[in-house]
Amino acid sequence: MTRAYNFCAGPASLPEEVLQQARDEMLDYQGLGMSVMEMSHRSDVYGHIAKTAENDLRELLDISDDYAVLFMQGGASTQFATIPMNLLGAGQTADYIVTGQWSQKAQKEAVKFGKAHIAASSEADNFFSIPDASTWQLTDKAAYVHYAANETIGGVEYPFIPDVDAPLVADFSSSILSEPLDVSRFGLIYAGAQKNIGPAGIVVVIVRRDLLERSPNSIPVMMNYRVTAEKDSMYNTPPTYSWYLAGLVFKWLKRQGGVKAMAEINQRKAAKLYAYIDGSDFYSNPIDKACRSRMNVPFVLADSALDKRFLQQAEEARLLNLKGHRSVGGMRASLYNAVPEAAVDALINFMKQFEKDNG
Ligand code: PMP
Repeated sequence: MTRAYNFCAGPASLPEEVLQQARDEMLDYQGLGMSVMEMSHRSDVYGHIAKTAENDLRELLDISDDYAVLFMQGGASTQFATIPMNLLGAGQTADYIVTGQWSQKAQKEAVKFGKAHIAASSEADNFFSIPDASTWQLTDKAAYVHYAANETIGGVEYPFIPDVDAPLVADFSSSILSEPLDVSRFGLIYAGAQKNIGPAGIVVVIVRRDLLERSPNSIPVMMNYRVTAEKDSMYNTPPTYSWYLAGLVFKWLKRQGGVKAMAEINQRKAAKLYAYIDGSDFYSNPIDKACRSRMNVPFVLADSALDKRFLQQAEEARLLNLKGHRSVGGMRASLYNAVPEAAVDALINFMKQFEKDNG
C-alpha cells in the first residue's frame, strides 16, 4: 500500500513518520502495557507528554515566558466566542478586519458579546484582497484588533503583521508553524489543530499573560483563559490523544529544521503551483498576487463543466481532496507542512496532462 497525496484543507495530511510512530506506540506506550488513549491525564507519564509538547511548541515559535500556551477544545470556532468573552469588557469595542469567511464568522460571533466593529472589509471585492492598512477605521482604545492571518477558504494570506496600538488577536488556524512568527507582536494567537498541528480536537491558544487578568469570573469556566492557564489546560479531561499526536508533529518539525526550514519549502511549493496556474489559460486564481496564500491555493478551470472529470481523474491518480470549498466551488490545493514538495510536483504534472487532454 502506498499513501496517496492528500490536499485536504482540514483535517489535513499528517507526516507519515508521525503516523508510523503513533502506530508503533499504539498498543503499548513505552512498555507501560497501554496506549496513550488509555492513560490518566493526571498521570506523570501523560503530564510529561503534555509538557513536552508545550515546550517543543514554545521552542519552534520562540514563545517567551510572557505568554501562556493553552491547549483548548471546541476548535477555532469556539474561540470566536471565547475571545470576546474574555477580552471584550463592558462598554468596550473590538475591531475586526474581515477578509474572508473565517474572519467574518469571528466578527458575527463577537457581536453577541459586545461591540465588534468592522474596521475594514474586502467583501465588496469578493474577498480577493486585503484592504490597505492605511484605510482601516480603527477604534481609539479598542479592546483588541482581530484578523485571520490566512483565510483557508478564499486562499488569502496577510504578507505582513498589522501594526496597531490595541492587542492584536489573530486566527492562525491554517498557517501556524508554516514559517517563523514574531509572537511578541501579538496579544493572542489561536489555531485549530487539524491543519499544521495534528488531528482535530485541540485548539492552541498563545496568550500574553497580562491579558489573562481580563477574564471575568462570570463566563463558563471551560472558556476562561485565566483558569485554563492556571490549570495547565487540564481543568477537565483534555483530548489526550490529539495532544500527544500534536507533540509528535512538533518533534517531527524540529527534525525537519524547524519553521525556518518549513518556510523555505512552503514558499517553493506555493510559488511553483501559482507559476504554473498563472502561465496557463486553462486554470486561474483570482486572488490579488500580493496576498495569495502559501497554504491554500484555490483555482478554477476555464470550463467548469470539466470540474467533475478533473476531480475524478485526480483521485484515480491518487491526488485527493482537491475539491474547492462548497461555498466557492472550483478546486483548492492545501499545501500544509506535511504535504511534501513531491506532491505539488505530481499535482502540476497531472494538471498539465489534464490541460493537454482537455484544453
Ligand atoms: N479559522 C480558520 C482560518 C479555519 O480554516 C477554520 C477551519 N477550517 C476555522 C477557523 C474553524 O475551525 P474549527 O473547525 O476547528 O472550529
